[in-house]
Amino acid sequence: MKKIQMVDLPGQYAKIKDTVNTSIDEVLNSAAFINGPYVKEFQKDLEEYLNVKHVIPCANGTDALQIAMMGLGLEQGDEVITVDFTFAATVEVIGLLKLTPVLVDVDSSTFNMDIEALKKAITPKTKAIVPVHLFGQCANMEAIMEVANEHNLFVIEDNAQAIGADYTFSNGQTQKAGTIGHVGTTSFFPSKNLGCYGDGGAIFTNDDDLAHILRGVVNHGMYKRYYHDVIGVNSRLDSIQAAVLKAKLPHLDAYCDARRKAAAYYSNAFMESSNITVPAISVFSTHVFHQYTLKINNGKRNELHKHLLDKGIPNAIYYPVPLHSQEAYKDTRYNEDDFKVTNQLIDTVISLPMHTELEEEQLAFITKTVLDFVG
Ligand SMILES: *Cc1c(COP(=O)(O)O)cnc(C)c1O
Repeated sequence: MKKIQMVDLPGQYAKIKDTVNTSIDEVLNSAAFINGPYVKEFQKDLEEYLNVKHVIPCANGTDALQIAMMGLGLEQGDEVITVDFTFAATVEVIGLLKLTPVLVDVDSSTFNMDIEALKKAITPKTKAIVPVHLFGQCANMEAIMEVANEHNLFVIEDNAQAIGADYTFSNGQTQKAGTIGHVGTTSFFPSKNLGCYGDGGAIFTNDDDLAHILRGVVNHGMYKRYYHDVIGVNSRLDSIQAAVLKAKLPHLDAYCDARRKAAAYYSNAFMESSNITVPAISVFSTHVFHQYTLKINNGKRNELHKHLLDKGIPNAIYYPVPLHSQEAYKDTRYNEDDFKVTNQLIDTVISLPMHTELEEEQLAFITKTVLDFVG
């Protein structure tokens, strides 16, 4: 059996090596490292794939979030609501911009923003909501957009983990994750579902005026060369990364299918155990399984983590510490009772190997090892 990896990037690369290498060679020979043709081409391809009017490429997913917030004109003291159970980038940029982060709890089955908690957190200072489509499936966007419209708030979708997922509204209309809110962001970090071979990110919007503002913000606030109308940043997707992404985008749907297939194998095997809760799939979103995350209900999560490592099965705890307890983001406003679900998840979740190259033999070994231990 091939050695099991948490993420198998070399295995995936081997299958697209010729196309990727040819594209990279082209960039090397042209020396158009910044703003070369591949950047524009990938931007257009992604606009078409997502069915969104504007894609603004940038340097990484954290910048994408920051630039989105700058473009919306959020100001010091404005409250931005996001979730307690996510990667820190989301709350980090809120703090960097001197906005006020307001963390809310998540739903225990989907790990996504709890709508009642969101409603409770709204104050006259609230200006924006940042739902995170955690582990590859969309938050309840229809409910979030309703709340946002009612209170006149912006919605910024952190879509770093769910690119390619489809959201279906109650009227049957379907939209790609990240294109539903006023603005969406993503990351092309190598291990993400659509990853490049370095850092990369992008911002999506259907709003022409906002797109214009964002294109300036990513480029030092310049709309005309050497005229700086607003304070911006330097955040670019470089041409080599764009070339890699252009080569990989046509495979994204197949990559999502491969992840779903592995997830189905896992869930089918784990369903028999009363000590394991398999990932819930919501009625309104497809799941692209950036992570395959179980809940271990018999208190043995930490032992399982060590046992699997001993057996050569990589695994991870996403996330081990809630944001509201992090040194950088502690706040006396928070009350432990407001984070009951997150406080429980950090002790029960475990993410298993998930990537596009998992083989049945590996999946069989992983599921058997987990079931033998957990029962
Ligand atoms: C990866 C990730 C980011 C940050 O992306 P980078 O490209 O690493 O800056 C932001 N939010 C979430 C939810 C992520 O998973």
